Amino acid sequence: MTNYKQILQKIEQEIKPFSNEGMVSTSIPELALISPFKFGIHLVDTARVDSSIGDSNEKFSIQSISKVLSLSCAFKFLGENTWSRVGVEPSGNPFNSLVQLEYEKGKPRNPFVNAGAIVIADILVSNLKSPKSDFLNFVRNLANCDTINFNEEVALSEKKVGYRNAALANLLKSFGNIENDVDEVLDFYFHQCSIEMTCKELAHSFYFFANGGYTLAQNHRILTESQIKRLNALMQTCGFYDESGEFAYKVGLPGKSGIGGGIIAIHPQKYCVATWSPKLNEKGNSVMGMKALELLTTETQMSIF
Ligand code: GLN
Repeated sequence: MTNYKQILQKIEQEIKPFSNEGMVSTSIPELALISPFKFGIHLVDTARVDSSIGDSNEKFSIQSISKVLSLSCAFKFLGENTWSRVGVEPSGNPFNSLVQLEYEKGKPRNPFVNAGAIVIADILVSNLKSPKSDFLNFVRNLANCDTINFNEEVALSEKKVGYRNAALANLLKSFGNIENDVDEVLDFYFHQCSIEMTCKELAHSFYFFANGGYTLAQNHRILTESQIKRLNALMQTCGFYDESGEFAYKVGLPGKSGIGGGIIAIHPQKYCVATWSPKLNEKGNSVMGMKALELLTTETQMSIF
């Protein structure tokens, strides 16, 4: 059996030279307040063994990582019909880009760029009875943790400066790809992004992607084996925006990043790992998180390729 704890401790030493690279995101004022030198990893393997290092028990803003969870929830309602409203192709563009959406007539490239995630938010607003609290409960059940919450200050802070997301939502609406009131959809989207979790909670909530669709604590089936295959493939090809190729090349696992500095990565049938380090590169992905995951797959000599 692989001793992940030992490997993580080795990575903690090897990663130190990278601690000065990158910058904390300033696009959401409230997020800029975080200490730049936080660093944590939590890995849970399919033998259900937990291994962690650093600040892995501190909550942080999961931001775009939430897009995978909202997609998982929407996929339960719409299945393959989801793809009539949003595509499954890498965008090759920054996450908040507007140009592609205009010339592709309001159908976002994939559910992980902001435009795609806003369409998914619209699907959830249409299908959930109390959208925000039902979605929060969905996430709490995945992680088997009741203390997971929205951070209202972060949601409000993003709303105040969310001009590009408002532009994307209005453009989508003009193409008929938003059913609900634009403000309601954006409110849902800003809240889902503001969810806070620790590395441990995040790794536990994504465990079903490593475990054929079944959750860690209660063995609930969330998605089918075939749906898991599809969403893992989407994370592999689109999870890091215009750096998805680089992540596949260096790490070789499906994953998803967020501008709060978190990254989730999945080795199907083996483990699920969450990293957190707030300093980002120019593509909006955590510098130390990407490096740590590259070291993890190099050190273990295991990736999906
Ligand atoms: N809430 C952020 C936004 O919409 C999420 C971006 C990210 O984490 N990449 O801009």
